[in-house]
Amino acid sequence: MTEKLYYQNGYNTEFKGTVLSCEKSKEGYHIVLNQTLFYPEGGGQPGDKGTLGGVTVFDVHEKHGEVIHYTEAPLTVGIEVEGKIDWAHRFDLMQNHSGEHILSGIICKKYHCDNVGFHMGREEITIDFNAQIPLEDLNWLEERANQAIWENTPIEITYPEKEELEGLAYRSKIELAGEVRIVKAGEFDCCACCGTHVRLAGEIGIIKIVGAQNYKGGTRLELLCGQRGLAYFQKIQQASKEVGRALSVQEEKIGVGVQKLLSEKDGFIQELKKWKWQVFLHRIEKLPMDADSILMVEDGLSGKDMTSLADLAVEKNHGRAIVMTPSEDGFAFVLVSRKMDAKKIVEELKTSFDCKGGGKDGGVQGKLMGEREKILSFLQALGFYFAK
Ligand SMILES: [Zn+2]
Repeated sequence: MTEKLYYQNGYNTEFKGTVLSCEKSKEGYHIVLNQTLFYPEGGGQPGDKGTLGGVTVFDVHEKHGEVIHYTEAPLTVGIEVEGKIDWAHRFDLMQNHSGEHILSGIICKKYHCDNVGFHMGREEITIDFNAQIPLEDLNWLEERANQAIWENTPIEITYPEKEELEGLAYRSKIELAGEVRIVKAGEFDCCACCGTHVRLAGEIGIIKIVGAQNYKGGTRLELLCGQRGLAYFQKIQQASKEVGRALSVQEEKIGVGVQKLLSEKDGFIQELKKWKWQVFLHRIEKLPMDADSILMVEDGLSGKDMTSLADLAVEKNHGRAIVMTPSEDGFAFVLVSRKMDAKKIVEELKTSFDCKGGGKDGGVQGKLMGEREKILSFLQALGFYFAK
């Protein structure tokens, strides 16, 4: 069994230990010491990082009471090494783990539910509850949790005797062999936990819920505490500042600004549609009366535009119309035919060009790949009048 120094004092960052074993592993080496400050992954909290004798420790796990340090290089068995844990990484986990306890304590008490999942990722932290938490309660829950920070509530760790434990109300109450570690945050929470925690809630800095979703019949909350909460706020503030500047509105009014912009955009689209229609009508007006097959080429038309223009043309000539818009390797096209031979024409195009299209005898939409001039000449040879 490794002596777990992190339970004696969660704030120490340096220690000395003797190397008991060193084994080569897939990713590096597995090292066991007689004692360690490195917290191994457990209870939702990731393992510590740091160095052992100058060698990088990138992860830590526990197996049968032994703490296994995953290192990048080997260490000699029997020697004493100096260990240093990455305090920024550890303190971030402590802030978030303690923040999670306080929020979970408040939620489980209010909704008579359990915390059924806890994950601390590199970016996000999620907590799952087996209760539906109303979205309108989130602000209140957040404020209540931050109350613990404002009161600088002590977070106390105890190992009560069996009899005392039986009478104690705490979360994660399951039959455990050996001593049970109780983490209590004043009136906010009491929970059995093996993780590392801050001494005073004030050190958490901030508890911020940044996401909520229905999850397996309950609720999954996304949470950020401490420096992560601050970094998140800075990121969001930067983004909203940029949007505000672009819209020339105050940051808190960017929602209204964006709505205004979107409705303006809808207005422009309607206006554009109207003008496009006018241009199409003008184009049709100029078509010769006697051409029963019309070919038109226009830049930047959508499939819908091409269909509208081709429909207008056949309304006038009662024949065929092919509208094309240049693409990278040829044309996109819409062919409409009142003579019900659109598919036949496509077959003819396929004899000379790479032509992909789908539709019916009355109309086909597709792509025509090949040299543009050749395509235009081919269509004119088929009897299409090229309306420039
Ligand atoms: Zn915990």
